[in-house]
Amino acid sequence: MELERELSLSLEGVTALACWEPRIGEVFTLVGDGPIFYRARLATLGSRQAVVVPFERFTLAPESPLEIVVYQALPEKERFELVLQKLTEVGVNRIVPYVSRRSVTLEERDAGQKKSHRWPDVLLRAAKQCRRGMIPALAPVLGWEEMLQEVAAADLRLMLYEGETYWSLKEAMDRQNPGRVALLVGPEGGFEADEAARAQAAGVLPVSLGGRILRTETAAILGAAMIQFALGDLG
Ligand code: SAM
Repeated sequence: MELERELSLSLEGVTALACWEPRIGEVFTLVGDGPIFYRARLATLGSRQAVVVPFERFTLAPESPLEIVVYQALPEKERFELVLQKLTEVGVNRIVPYVSRRSVTLEERDAGQKKSHRWPDVLLRAAKQCRRGMIPALAPVLGWEEMLQEVAAADLRLMLYEGETYWSLKEAMDRQNPGRVALLVGPEGGFEADEAARAQAAGVLPVSLGGRILRTETAAILGAAMIQFALGDLG
C-alpha cells in the first residue's frame, strides 16, 4: 500500500469502515493484507464507496495474534462500562456478559436508569482511542448454561476462582499455545460452589490470582492482561 496516496475501498471495506462511524477527515486504523496496519485519513464516504489516504504504517500491530474472550458475570452500576473500556485496551476480541446466581440480571441492571444501550459506544470510543484495528464484539447477555456451551469452543478455558484451586493463572498458562482463550470472571458475590463444580465438569480450569480478593472488574482486567502478556502481544 502506497503512503499519502488516495485509495478506494472495496464494498467489504466500506461496510467494515461504517462500523466505526467515522467523519470526513477523521484518522482511523486501516487493516491491509497480511494483516498490515496503517493510520489513514478518511477523504470521502458514501453508502457504497469510500476514499481513504493511508499515511503511516504501524511498527507494532494493534491486534494480538491471540484470541481472548472474556465472560463477565454482569456487575452492578458502572463497573461493566469500565470492564468494556479496559478490556478493549488490553486487546480482547469478544466480551460476553452472563448471569450467574449471585450476579444481577440485565433487567435489574437497567432498572431505574437504562444504561446498557451505551455499551457499544463505550467499546467504539475505547477502540478508537487505542487505535485498534477492530472493535471487540459484545455478545448479548447469556444465561449460565448458554455461556458454558460457548466456552467449550475455546482451546484454553480458565475460570478466575477465589476458592481453593490447584493452579495459579500463571501456572495454567505455562507451556500452552492456544489460539483462543476463554476467561470466566465471577460476580461480586463470587461463584456458588456448585456453579464452580459445574464449570469444572464442563472443562473449565479454576485458577487463582493470589491471596488478595479483587473486585470483579479488577480481576477481569488483570486476568486478561496476564493472558495477553504470557501468550499474546502485551509487553
Ligand atoms: N465473594 C467473594 C468473597 O468475598 O470471598 C469474592 C468474589 S470477587 C469480589 C469477584 C470475582 O473476581 C470472583 O468470582 C473471581 O472470578 C474473581 N477474583 C477476585 N479475586 C480473585 C483471586 N484472588 N483469584 C481468582 N479470582 C479472583
